[in-house]
Amino acid sequence: MYIKTTGITLKSTPFKDRSNIIQLLSSDLGIISVIVRGISKKNLNLMAICSPFAISEIVLKKTNSDIYKLKEGSLIDVNLHIRKSLKYLKTASYMIKAIASAHFLADSKDMYLLLKTYLKKIALNPDAILVSFLLKLLQKSASLHLNTKCNVCEKEAQLIEGGESLCIDHGSDLAFKFSKEDFKKNFILCFSKSFSLIENLEISNILKEKINFLFKELM
Ligand SMILES: [Zn+2]
Repeated sequence: MYIKTTGITLKSTPFKDRSNIIQLLSSDLGIISVIVRGISKKNLNLMAICSPFAISEIVLKKTNSDIYKLKEGSLIDVNLHIRKSLKYLKTASYMIKAIASAHFLADSKDMYLLLKTYLKKIALNPDAILVSFLLKLLQKSASLHLNTKCNVCEKEAQLIEGGESLCIDHGSDLAFKFSKEDFKKNFILCFSKSFSLIENLEISNILKEKINFLFKELM
């Protein structure tokens, strides 16, 4: 049985002679492992498919184990722009790590499209892209319910606790506390459907760190 799908390569590990096992986010199957055989310098297409961030159209064969076999593959986009800066590379690697911990909680097509779009747009504003990506993952997997108003009293929200938005009076010491301005930024970063709103947002290191911690806590 053959399955045709598209996927983004997340990780590639050499395995035996001229073979790699790649971890792939497939638009139809979620995150899967695929064995790629016959890799050589003569087959640039296969080498490119095995490189992280590459997007390919692939035909897979199901095996008896959890690992699929690559039957055919053709590269769509190697996402070369990510390798033009260490900052882009670090951001993209972080996004890949994050999605590997989140994928099973949400729809695979949705996750695929999110990662694909965000990898493409990384150069716009890497910090804002990363924070937006993490917030969207949390929201899509229903771990975060971001709201401009407090969950309890409808006052302006400024805290996140247990994934809920709360005002300054209704959170405990364990809540993530944001400035009013940062809380609004979170809202834009989480729900914006347009990159023009995200592109010019300034993200402080404090905000970036808090969202990183929030992601680790909720995911
Ligand atoms: Zn309240």
